[in-house]
Amino acid sequence: MTGNGAMVILSGEDQKNVVPPWLRPIASIKLYDSCETHSSKECNFYCKFCMVALCKDCKKQHNLSEHEIIKAYKVAKVASFRIEDLEPLWDTSDIYPYSQNGWLVAFIYKRGNGIARSRGESNLAECESCPYRLKSLSTKYCSMECKSFRKRTRKQKNPLRAPFY
Ligand SMILES: [Zn+2]
Ligand SMILES: [Zn+2]
Ligand SMILES: [Zn+2]
Repeated sequence: MTGNGAMVILSGEDQKNVVPPWLRPIASIKLYDSCETHSSKECNFYCKFCMVALCKDCKKQHNLSEHEIIKAYKVAKVASFRIEDLEPLWDTSDIYPYSQNGWLVAFIYKRGNGIARSRGESNLAECESCPYRLKSLSTKYCSMECKSFRKRTRKQKNPLRAPFY
């Protein structure tokens, strides 16, 4: 026995269910807005270490070997991260994956702001955090924001215990 195959880290799965610290401020970070310092550039990078949005020029000021930088993409006119980049860090399996050019992306920001409920689409699942209609029944959230925001608000609700206990 050489221990091959015994390298599975069991705690990995549990960790992936927790919203990682770098993801918590994501809803207030404006990816794909123009940079405050370099107004002609868009911020399409996110530094997980500093928890800020960066443009190409800002990125040069961050130590790339110590700061983990993740690239954001603009897909269907909204900011997204590639699922491939997120998967090692967070469980994205219940976020609706949008496919473009062979890449799967997760939308960063809540999609359902101000969306009126549309008729005739009742067979579609609704995001658990907002009124956005998901095109896939196997997913629960339209975006990363909806998934991480929901976890934080759960505290406000009274925990309901099953009456049998
Ligand atoms: Zn940084
Ligand atoms: Zn900049
Ligand atoms: Zn949503």
